[in-house]
Amino acid sequence: MVVFSTIEGEFLREQLELLLRLQEIDSALSDLQWETEDLPRQIADLEQQVETTDAAVKEQEIALETAKKDRRKFESDLEDTSTKLADLKSKQVVIKTNEEYAALQTEIGYAESTISQIEDSILVLLEQIEGASVDMEVVRQSAADSRGVIEKKIAEFQHEMVRQTEALTIKRDERVRVAMNVDERMLERYERILESKGDQVLVPLIDGLCTGCYKKLPPQQAIEIRRSDRFFECEGCGRILYWGGEGQDGEE
Ligand SMILES: [Zn+2]
Repeated sequence: MVVFSTIEGEFLREQLELLLRLQEIDSALSDLQWETEDLPRQIADLEQQVETTDAAVKEQEIALETAKKDRRKFESDLEDTSTKLADLKSKQVVIKTNEEYAALQTEIGYAESTISQIEDSILVLLEQIEGASVDMEVVRQSAADSRGVIEKKIAEFQHEMVRQTEALTIKRDERVRVAMNVDERMLERYERILESKGDQVLVPLIDGLCTGCYKKLPPQQAIEIRRSDRFFECEGCGRILYWGGEGQDGEE
């Protein structure tokens, strides 16, 4: 058990009150700090959602554009093959031999079959384009809707960030004012423990137990803590103990 102040009575009780107030402020500061750091993460997540939605729209647009390009290509092929077919047919009247006639018929047959295949492909593409156009509208609408919702949420979060930053400034000012009145050595001790524990520095002694680590204290020390004429650091966890009361199994 470490005794680090022999200052007695009123002064000590006043210091204890100040330190408890400081602890309250630090706990609020830590919460605020966490929230302030968490908000940009939440905003980044939402922005990521917008990007994902935009990418889905883009993908759909590319698919539609590709189908339209294919259709133009097939239509151009169809035109070329039709011209070729007309040309072949025009030659029929000037054919002189049976061999030439047979060869021409084969070419005509091939061109006709090509035209038929191209026409089938165009029909399939037209269906695809029609379907993709409908999907496109649905995807665009749904992207616009979700973007609206997300952007509203982002604006709310940004507003909340401003509010929290202000709250942090107010809390930090409050901390400076309280810390100013704390005894320099006690403040040093407090901050050292805060740094090592990261949370509660002062913990109540209840039923003779440190509520930071649940180590039991000798009855005599519990009595001294109750009288608040000395500050004790718990041997188990190093936190500062103050009188928190007693239950049915209390010391005395
Ligand atoms: Zn302890």
